Amino acid sequence: MPYEVTLIPGDGIGPEVTQATRKVLEATGVSIHWDVVPMGEFDGRDKATSLPEPVLDSIKRTRVALKGPVTTPVGSGFRSLNVALRQRFDLYACLRPCKIYAGAPSRYDYVDIVVVRENLEDLYTGIELEQGAPEIDGLLKLLPVSSRKAIRPDSAISIKAISATGSRRIVKFAFDYARTHGRKRVTAVHKANIMKFSDGLFLHTAREVARDYADIEFDDRLVDNLNMQLVRHPQQFDVLVAPNLYGDLLSDLCAGLIGGLGLAPGANIGYEIAIFEPAHGSAPRYAGQNRANPMATMLCGVMLLKHLGETGAAGTLEKAIASVIAEGEVLTYDLRPGNPESAAGTSQVGEAVEKKLKQG
Ligand code: NAD
Repeated sequence: MPYEVTLIPGDGIGPEVTQATRKVLEATGVSIHWDVVPMGEFDGRDKATSLPEPVLDSIKRTRVALKGPVTTPVGSGFRSLNVALRQRFDLYACLRPCKIYAGAPSRYDYVDIVVVRENLEDLYTGIELEQGAPEIDGLLKLLPVSSRKAIRPDSAISIKAISATGSRRIVKFAFDYARTHGRKRVTAVHKANIMKFSDGLFLHTAREVARDYADIEFDDRLVDNLNMQLVRHPQQFDVLVAPNLYGDLLSDLCAGLIGGLGLAPGANIGYEIAIFEPAHGSAPRYAGQNRANPMATMLCGVMLLKHLGETGAAGTLEKAIASVIAEGEVLTYDLRPGNPESAAGTSQVGEAVEKKLKQG
């Protein structure tokens, strides 16, 4: 029986990178039936501003999806469909492994960090009041008079909410991941010196959860200090667990340490459903040009195979991707800094990985 997996190609570079990934997954010999459902600019609706029903129905049925990026307008327009999908299925954990493969353009010899990002709370709940919204006045009246003065009347306001429940489950997820993946240390990331209640609650809860995992080291870092330490000595970090916004920023920073977004996979995980998608966005500038690096999405494919219990095929696919990087002959422009004219296209990289898989 083939595995049933939802495939959301997305938009921008999404269709190209997911197509290349689909082919290499099929070349592993694992039998997958893909339920392909559009979402984003090409999903056939006049305005792609809400989650398409066929996507929701398919994921409810298959409980596992491979997803390409989907564009969100910046600064105005509709809210992110990517965030809406995570919220809809309570995909509370975002897992972003950042590991250096030999041959990738990096300043470092060794980095193997896993960013565990809380995926639903913090500033991403989408509770915002536009400048001039009538509710702002009412909100300000709820604050002590001394605090009101700190908010100018022409402000826009975004609500940052961090709960004990949300913090507990993401920190537990990070420790469980550390335990099952032979990791030694979990570092909680926060800014609790300034946001004493919201980030303070995250830190306090992380310390409480850590007591149940005596076999795993635990420490914490202020997010600003962590940024500096990551750039100077990334080798010292293992699993990072962070509220949503810091996790988002840190996973791009960590992608930069290992050779860029083209090598950074990700997964959104809940109790019953998992959606695998690269850390990168739709890179509209490169859409339809056969230039984008499909390897981040292929590495999502490795994570997906592990999730299905196909660990052997996952290892084989990861090895094939690693050996194409190590050989350095068929690589997209982002992995060829200083020599972009010799870059291969998305589909050539796919073929190179397929060839490796066939050679065994
Ligand atoms: P982006 O990740 O799309 O692109 C940033 C830059 O990174 C690109 O210009 C390109 O140089 C490089 N890049 C990204 N992916 C690459 C790849 N596979 N191969 C080679 N180079 C790659 O980020 P952005 O420009 O900030 O966002 C573009 C759109 O994507 C926005 O609408 C944003 O909201 C959306 N987005 C979607 C998701 C998602 O679907 N989960 C995630 C992030 C951003």
